[in-house]
Amino acid sequence: MKKRRLIWQLYPSYLVVIAVSLGATAWYISRSIRVFHYAQAEKALDSAAFLVAEHLKTPERLPALDPHGAAEAHAGIDSLCKSLGAACGYRVTVVLPSGQVLGDSEKNPGQMENHADRPEIATALHGRAGVAIHYSRTLRMHMMYVAVPVQAGSRTAAIVRTSLSLADIDAAVHNMRKRLAAAGMVIACVAAAMSVVVSRRISRPIENIRRGAEAFGRGELQSRLPPARVAELDILANTLNRMANQLNARINTITEQRDEQNALLACMIEGVVAVDNEKRLIKMNEAAEQFFHVRAADAAGKAVGAVIRNALLLRIIDDALEAAGPIEGDVPLPDTDRRLQAHGTALHGAAGQRIGALVVLNDVTRLRRLETVRRDFVANVSHELKTPITSIKGFAETLLDGAAANAQDLDRFLKIIAKQANRLQSIIEDLLTLSSLEDVAEKHDVELQRGRVDNVVENAIQSCQTSAEARGMQLRTHCEGALVANLNIQLFEQAVANLIDNSIKYGEAGTAVEVSARERDGEIAILVRDEGPGIAGEHLPRLFERFYRVDKSRSRKLGGTGLGLAIVKRIVLAHGGRVSVESTLGKGSTFSIFLPRA
Ligand code: ADP
Repeated sequence: MKKRRLIWQLYPSYLVVIAVSLGATAWYISRSIRVFHYAQAEKALDSAAFLVAEHLKTPERLPALDPHGAAEAHAGIDSLCKSLGAACGYRVTVVLPSGQVLGDSEKNPGQMENHADRPEIATALHGRAGVAIHYSRTLRMHMMYVAVPVQAGSRTAAIVRTSLSLADIDAAVHNMRKRLAAAGMVIACVAAAMSVVVSRRISRPIENIRRGAEAFGRGELQSRLPPARVAELDILANTLNRMANQLNARINTITEQRDEQNALLACMIEGVVAVDNEKRLIKMNEAAEQFFHVRAADAAGKAVGAVIRNALLLRIIDDALEAAGPIEGDVPLPDTDRRLQAHGTALHGAAGQRIGALVVLNDVTRLRRLETVRRDFVANVSHELKTPITSIKGFAETLLDGAAANAQDLDRFLKIIAKQANRLQSIIEDLLTLSSLEDVAEKHDVELQRGRVDNVVENAIQSCQTSAEARGMQLRTHCEGALVANLNIQLFEQAVANLIDNSIKYGEAGTAVEVSARERDGEIAILVRDEGPGIAGEHLPRLFERFYRVDKSRSRKLGGTGLGLAIVKRIVLAHGGRVSVESTLGKGSTFSIFLPRA
């Protein structure tokens, strides 16, 4: 239905009321004027007729009313009618009781028809004044007539009738009506103009309230409605203002709570995914967005299966929606080595009813990796220890079985046992060193002090001098000035010595090993370069892992434990530095240690 504005409802109503009341009033007034004029005319005609009747009653005039009287007497009556009619302005007629017209101010009575049938005449014949309005066949117009009897004793001698043309009265009434209409128009215009003002005054405060309510509807809850002059509207405006205030306060509280909730969820490193009973996403935090490469803003309200394409997670959500208690499970992320641990629980509404499920996702990649490393380590250690122990056990049993009787075998087997025992010892020593290094690294309590790198390098070279000479190798050193770093001198010397030792062990006999130290971009670099066989590219990324060896049998033969480079890496990390290796097959290798400058 088409809605009209209040002013267009009020204003036309006012116009209708004005038109109807003015019309009714005008009709009533014009009718009253007409009635008044007719009454006045009747009164005037009556007075005039009465006066003429009184005049005719005089003894001089009365004989002239005899129907059988002389024609001159009758003519006297007619001329009297004419002179009186001219004097009073009414038509004056004298009629005998027989209906014969004796005199008339307007016409010749001889030519006039019998008037006995006229209603006013008939009434007057009964001795009362007769009043009538009818068409005058003589004058051919509507007339008002008043007839009074001329009493001669108990007899009615004649009837005097005065009459007036209604056209005159009607013209006067019409004139009055015209003036009345003009006045009515002026009043109507003034009233219409006033109606506009009044309608506006009524509708404007309501319009203000409407505009204010629309502003509230748009969320502009800080805006306020002005006070209204009408008491009811003022109460309405106040009530709306109070309602907006309360709404604003509640929305602020809800917004604050939502922001806090979002901030909490955003800060969490755990992923959070909440779904409703129809498995539509209710909430998802940033961590979960990153795990599954989706945007929570695009995903809200959508089916979780369409947003997160991970079958294991979807199964956990399904289980959490159905299970009575919490659910747990691992969720590997496809195309990466990341693993998540998911905890799913049912979500309950305020009334305790189940409204969905919540899944919290922990990134357990590092934990799982550490577990694997630890498992591999135990397996590697066992494997490394098994070989020398089996060897020692075997030779000891052989000796016990009688081989000790042969002096040559005894000497050879004991030497093998001693060698394997030494190997065991070095493995255990390296493991202990590594474990203590990991310990201090974990606690961050490696004691560091300012020390000269060139001095440490010099000491490490000296400690390796004997083994270098044994292989006919030359150790060269080149240090750029006095380089100072925060060092644990003992550990750092061991790291450099390990690298030099490897270069001697794996390098070509008779070649040179060069150890240099220099400063570049705020870092101190210690490089150990050999002219050995070099290392194939595929081994380089894993070279610093525990027990990783390029050539196992060669390493073992040379007394290697596979832990030397792992120890170097641990020591350098404890100094806040890093290690790297560059190598080309057939052209030698360069191991580098980078330390922050003191
Ligand atoms: P190992 O006790 O076997 O020497 P490391 O951790 O010191 O153990 O070294 C790991 C492996 O790296 C060695 O087994 C060896 O194969 C390789 N390697 C280390 N240094 C060199 C080098 N300078 N030249 C060639 N290969 C090397």
